[in-house]
Amino acid sequence: MAAHATLPFSCSSKLQTLTRTLSPRGPLHLRRGFIRLPSLAAFPRFSRAPHPSCRHISASAEASNGASAEGEYDFDLFTIGAGSGGVRASRFASTLHGARVAICEMPFATIASEEHGGLGGTCVLRGCVPKKLLVYGSKYSHEFEESRGFGWTYETDPKHDWSTLIANKNTELQRLVGIYKNIINNSGATLIEGRGKIVDPHTVSVNGKLYTAKNILVAVGGRPSIPNIPGIEHVIDSDAALDLPSKPEKIAIIGGGYIALEFAGIFNGLKSDVHVFIRQKKVLRGFDEEVRDFLAEQMSLRGITFHTEQTPQAITKSNDGLLSLKTSKETIGGFSHVMFATGRKPNTKNLGLEEAGVEMDKNGAIVVDEYSRTSVESIWAVGDVTNRINLTPVALMEGGAFVKTVFGNEPTKPDYRAVPSAVFSQPPIGQVGLSEEQAIEEYGDVDVFVANFRPLKATLSGLPDRVLMKIIVCATTNKVVGVHMCGDDAPEIIQGIAIAVKAGLTKQDFDATIGIHPTSAEEFVTMRNATRKIRNNTASEVESKDEVVTKQ
Ligand SMILES: Cc1cc2nc3c(=O)[nH]c(=O)nc-3n(C[C@H](O)[C@H](O)[C@H](O)COP(=O)(O)OP(=O)(O)OC[C@H]3O[C@@H](n4cnc5c(N)ncnc54)[C@H](O)[C@@H]3O)c2cc1C
Repeated sequence: MAAHATLPFSCSSKLQTLTRTLSPRGPLHLRRGFIRLPSLAAFPRFSRAPHPSCRHISASAEASNGASAEGEYDFDLFTIGAGSGGVRASRFASTLHGARVAICEMPFATIASEEHGGLGGTCVLRGCVPKKLLVYGSKYSHEFEESRGFGWTYETDPKHDWSTLIANKNTELQRLVGIYKNIINNSGATLIEGRGKIVDPHTVSVNGKLYTAKNILVAVGGRPSIPNIPGIEHVIDSDAALDLPSKPEKIAIIGGGYIALEFAGIFNGLKSDVHVFIRQKKVLRGFDEEVRDFLAEQMSLRGITFHTEQTPQAITKSNDGLLSLKTSKETIGGFSHVMFATGRKPNTKNLGLEEAGVEMDKNGAIVVDEYSRTSVESIWAVGDVTNRINLTPVALMEGGAFVKTVFGNEPTKPDYRAVPSAVFSQPPIGQVGLSEEQAIEEYGDVDVFVANFRPLKATLSGLPDRVLMKIIVCATTNKVVGVHMCGDDAPEIIQGIAIAVKAGLTKQDFDATIGIHPTSAEEFVTMRNATRKIRNNTASEVESKDEVVTKQ
């Protein structure tokens, strides 16, 4: 694995809008925590002057919140982990409600460990942001191929320099770490560098120093989880894959989830020989079945080899340094890299949670109620550590709802309805709401509109690129309950469509909307005839004549 690099905790002071890349996850199965609704009486009364930056807040907001009496505790809130959820909650508690907040974060390293992390957390340092930068970098090869049909010629094929991409990506990450430091400092919260550990329901230790707080927020996220099989010391995880010293020549990627597919697209775009090994028959468990098939086909057409129904058993390294992967079906050699993208585990080990009485599930995720409160009254948890929907915007929402509940006198549950997400594969997926299968299970009678077409660009590029779009409608109410797309710009398009789905708009509303021509997105407002009408869960599936809309 790549060695740890150290970044300073300083950078540009200019506050900028942070990249907010939305993303995926299989359709959203929420784990049910125990339900314990906190009564307003459970929230302590506000008892001290607010932070100067929020003197304007209303009397009612000040009347009751999670602040402690002066001197009772060092802080009103102590947050462990300065990632998406922790920073959002700490900042809002301090600036909006005048709470006395401390937040601790471990020193930066490229690869996260029990002792290393970095301001900004996974999204900024080892997830959404660096991943998307590499996706951008890798997409050019497909665009170069497309350009030939539009008249471009090259004397020689353009060359890619991996070290330039990684160096520029790292410069950007340093800038973001600096921005996060400024965000925290400007909010008035106290930033403490080091590993936090819960000592008791109101005490956290960092580097041996004890801090007391009325409320503790655990926002420690998760880390890659890799099975312990022979030769596992030779493999890399997603942290390392984002910061390799050289580009893989031939890579085996184990896993069929969104992270595996995004990296497969990155390395394929950069002209590595990419093999994806999945345990099941299909990629992206939990996504719409038609979308799963479509994406795998499109990725195969771009040169990625899928090995299905295979479990990895061992990795061996030969004298020439190349790796062989033995699976339940075959052994393939010659890999420069083997990457495991086999899931993530919450960072709850050795955090003092058991000792403090905080309940966890069998995967180590913290069990919380609908307000993100743990089984210990003063300890709360948001983000990936609770394993609800593990996405940055969801961690932000949970952090914001926690602050309203505890400091704003406004008990607020995070709202998990119609959370849109994306897979930044190539081509990418955007989706919001239910898959066809989930909609049938939930509503029984469902109308499905499908368009599978060759986009305009492909007519001249000559490439076999296609686009898949689906609208899923509850036949009883005519409400659009799910929208899915796989094709260029799908995440950008679905972000807009998500507003309509969240607002509960009907298929008529979609039909009444005028398209923007010529775009792929206009198909979402011009799909007139249902491709399938599913009634009473199965039997009378009516296939319409235009099963697949072909748009040339
Ligand atoms: C490769 C990859 C790609 C992703 N792409 C996307 C995407 O495109 N879109 C999207 O929405 N989501 C994406 N995600 C998921 C997203 O990154 C997470 O959902 C999000 O970061 C969760 O935020 P969080 O606050 O819960 O945890 P994190 O952001 O992980 O923050 C937790 C922080 O706590 C720190 N910490 C841990 N233990 C301690 C301790 N004891 N003391 C002090 N600090 C501690 C860690 O160092 C870390 O900084 C991706 C994830 C990965 C791995």
